[in-house]
Amino acid sequence: MQQYEVIVIGAGPAGYVCAIRCAQLGFKVACIDKWVNARGKPALGGTCLNVGCIPSKALLDSTHHVHFLSEQAGRHGLKISGLEVDIPTMQKRKDKVVQTLTRGVASLLKKNKVDVYAGTARFLGEQRIHVGQLDGPSEELQGEHIVIASGSKPSTLPDIEVDNDRVLDSTGALNLQEAPERLGIIGAGVIGLEMGSVWNRLGSEVIILEALAEFLPAADRTVSKEAFKILGKQGLDIRMNCLVQGVQVTSDKVAVSYSLNGAEQLLEVSKLVIAVGRMADTTDLDLEAVGIKTNQKGFIEIDARWQTSVENVYAIGDVVGGAMLAHKGSEEGMALAEQLASQHAHINYEAIPWVVYTWPEIAWVGRTEQQCKSDGIPCRTGEFPFRALGRAHAMDDTGGLFKIVCEQDSDRILGAHILGPSASELICEAVVAMESELCAEDLARMVHAHPSLSEGMHEAALAADQRAIHF
Ligand code: FAD
Ligand code: NAD
Repeated sequence: MQQYEVIVIGAGPAGYVCAIRCAQLGFKVACIDKWVNARGKPALGGTCLNVGCIPSKALLDSTHHVHFLSEQAGRHGLKISGLEVDIPTMQKRKDKVVQTLTRGVASLLKKNKVDVYAGTARFLGEQRIHVGQLDGPSEELQGEHIVIASGSKPSTLPDIEVDNDRVLDSTGALNLQEAPERLGIIGAGVIGLEMGSVWNRLGSEVIILEALAEFLPAADRTVSKEAFKILGKQGLDIRMNCLVQGVQVTSDKVAVSYSLNGAEQLLEVSKLVIAVGRMADTTDLDLEAVGIKTNQKGFIEIDARWQTSVENVYAIGDVVGGAMLAHKGSEEGMALAEQLASQHAHINYEAIPWVVYTWPEIAWVGRTEQQCKSDGIPCRTGEFPFRALGRAHAMDDTGGLFKIVCEQDSDRILGAHILGPSASELICEAVVAMESELCAEDLARMVHAHPSLSEGMHEAALAADQRAIHF
């Protein structure tokens, strides 16, 4: 039986980062992953690289170009005639990006001397793991510390079967080879909006049915209201307050019956995407064999040091819930490795950025104005629109706004919210500011390059003190 100091189950962004950091710190490490790609080959990188962050952003980038060429190029004096969109080629580029990056993870693990096992891990004992290898005999591994980073899988709805032909999950929505004439999506969350944007830009009529009354409730209300308007103008037909009652699949269409404010409705679409959240993937682990506890929603229970109910068994990433984001999992992986090496390990969960990669992008970190109010924290806000930025005009991209939320008296930044081009990059300044416990005044006194989109953050900080210059 092979002995390891650390065995990591799962090579997604939480697991592979943890494995590499453990190896850097001198541990003997194994990393086990069961992922098999469409070509039947083992692939590392988990959901994020194979069917999540990376392929979705590859398609969002490609289709953003389509949008530019068809809708905006003319205004720049670029006359494009006979624009042809070749979706299979777009998909091949996306697959190539995924292949490059998943291979990159394999070489990083190799470089750091992590032993990789392609197969399914299952607990035999608190420190014993069975690996059903994909291309070899099964193995038994012994580990001083076991890290569960087994990730998540799409949630389903009762009585709706995902066949990835007519009714798709996010993976099916990433792999379509042609734009459906009418695409229905259940769930106006991150996946619904990103996948809806991709197929809308490629010509599908997109209708999104959302159960909640409030659009993107985690975002600041000013931003979510504006985003709702802009996305609606782009053609995303987002219907709130919808209670889906049933789905009927025939050879040429999917009929969704739902109620809207009590009235019965019927929506007929060519394909339907179910994007109603994700749940922990603990299916093959046999957690019961060793008594690892999960909560009511199926996420593994951990303490503040990522330890499960069993000593020396830890869990990180999507499988523990919270923000189900790649960067949150990776930070947990690194922090846990450092904790195992008796180093200081800390994550500021208040300063994790969120990004929805629609265009304009929606990004935020920290508290919303509404959260401050409901938590009784007196706050001030500063807002600044992209249309008041010279650079945004030069780019012909003027939709959206910056909003900074700071504590009323101390001026400390509690949150920042951006709807606009490159919000995913711009939010980083606010993360640094929050991690450094800066005040709006600090940002207001920092020199920002002109002309740049980052000037919007500077002006929003000035606006928090009612002294914005350009608006
Ligand atoms: P995962 O990435 O799910 O990896 C878990 C790994 O564990 C998998 O490889 C799996 O094969 C393996 N595994 C599970 N059980 C076993 C077992 N018993 N034995 C061996 N191996 C096992 N997040 C962002 O931050 N930004 C984005 O832009 C973004 N876009 C997304 C787009 C889509 C369409 C989706 C679906 C998700 C997106 N996410 C995004 C979320 C992100 O993918 C996840 O938060 C992230 O992958 C979680 O990392 P993880 O390592 O915890 O789990
Ligand atoms: P989500 O939680 O973001 O959104 C799901 C939406 O579905 C919610 O608005 C919810 O109210 C709605 N919903 C649930 N049940 C419903 C029903 N029966 N009828 C109608 N609407 C219903 O989940 P998601 O979009 O599936 O994404 C899953 C997770 O993946 C996200 O939480 C996120 O953590 C991660 N992700 C992140 C990114 C990113 O960071 N850019 C991109 C994609 C996915």
